[in-house]
Amino acid sequence: MNCNNTANHSIGCTVEKCKFHCNESNYCTLSKVSIGTHETNPTECQCVDCESFVAKN
Ligand code: SF4
Repeated sequence: MNCNNTANHSIGCTVEKCKFHCNESNYCTLSKVSIGTHETNPTECQCVDCESFVAKN
């Protein structure tokens, strides 16, 4: 799929296993994503998640 015209250049992303990832370039194709944390007290980058992630089939 060519998604360069739908890549959102405001949302860089390298999660190629996500169905919303633009395969040709490291961007998300959604217009908006939701970011959250699974930690009570997040202290580092690894504590934060993209909650819009959906696994590719
Ligand atoms: S939904 Fe989140 S994880 Fe998926 S491509 Fe967009 S930014 Fe990346």
